[in-house]
Amino acid sequence: MPHTVTLIPGDGIGPEVAEATVRAVEATGVAIGWERVELTRVVLDQCRGEIPQAVLDSLARTRVGLKGPVTTAVAAGFPSVNVVLRKRLDLFANVRPVRMLPGLKTRYRDTHIDLIIFRENTEDLYAGIEHEVVKDVVTSLKVITRMASERIARYTFAYARRVGRKKVTAVHKANIMKLSDGLFLRCARQVAREYPEIEYKELIVDNACMQLVMRPEQFDSLLMPNLYGDIISDLSAGLVGGLGLVPGANFGAEHAVFEAVHGSAPDIAGKGIANPTALMQSSVLMLEHLGESDAAKRLQSAIERVYTEGKNLTQDVGGTSSTGQFTDAVLQAL
Ligand code: ATP
Repeated sequence: MPHTVTLIPGDGIGPEVAEATVRAVEATGVAIGWERVELTRVVLDQCRGEIPQAVLDSLARTRVGLKGPVTTAVAAGFPSVNVVLRKRLDLFANVRPVRMLPGLKTRYRDTHIDLIIFRENTEDLYAGIEHEVVKDVVTSLKVITRMASERIARYTFAYARRVGRKKVTAVHKANIMKLSDGLFLRCARQVAREYPEIEYKELIVDNACMQLVMRPEQFDSLLMPNLYGDIISDLSAGLVGGLGLVPGANFGAEHAVFEAVHGSAPDIAGKGIANPTALMQSSVLMLEHLGESDAAKRLQSAIERVYTEGKNLTQDVGGTSSTGQFTDAVLQAL
């Protein structure tokens, strides 16, 4: 019985990295029926900021999505597609494993980096509740609830237990935002008590940034509200070679949508030079989710082999290859 997956190529570099990833997934031999749907910034504008019904219907059927990035307007326009989709499907847990690929010549190449970011995905300042009180005075509401905080904490600890992780660090700014981040922390502490075998720590977000840059090897699983999760994801991507590499998954009670940490990178779109590794590694997470562990392992090994050989890498990681040449090399390694 083949799997059915909703494929959202997105826009910017999205279609390029999505095509590369579909080739790689198909080369594993796993039978997947792709339901291709269009979700771009233009489509969102046409639908006045709503996710098109065809996209929601497809995801309701398949329950699994593979998604390229979609451009978000800055300081104007409709809310981010990514944020709206996560809210519509209640994809509350954003999981981003950050690991060094073998052979990559980054600043931290001699440091063991293997951490997972667990980002609450539905509230915080991403609730998008902004208000102009009077001209030139604007407020933005940071919404933190016990329900969402407990849910992401529970997801994090359960995941950590399942995969044998040893430590969870909650990242916060509860010294300043005593009520909101205070509630988030109280929920994390409460859930932590149910998992005595997992070490629990807390770190203020600014200190967490410095510690990540100075001693990233000390981190295991990081639990945090939405905004810190967004920022720390990009910071962590920088530790292991950049946004072209780091995969991600959004999980809800019913759906799972796999997407890279990076955005649509309009500066390099259409040039055939985008690095598809981040979405390919997201598809490895997808294959695991589909119960195709063997194919997931083979695809991950193939990607790692291309990095170890270092002959077919894209420009963002110091190579000269195109998206297509890198993908050919992954297929060859498979
Ligand atoms: P958003 O806020 O929409 O998530 P972002 O802040 O994560 O976006 P991106 O659009 O992902 O920003 O890209 C930032 C820069 O990183 C790009 O300008 C591009 O040069 C680089 N970049 C991102 N993704 C890739 C990729 N897959 N391959 C190569 N370079 C990339």
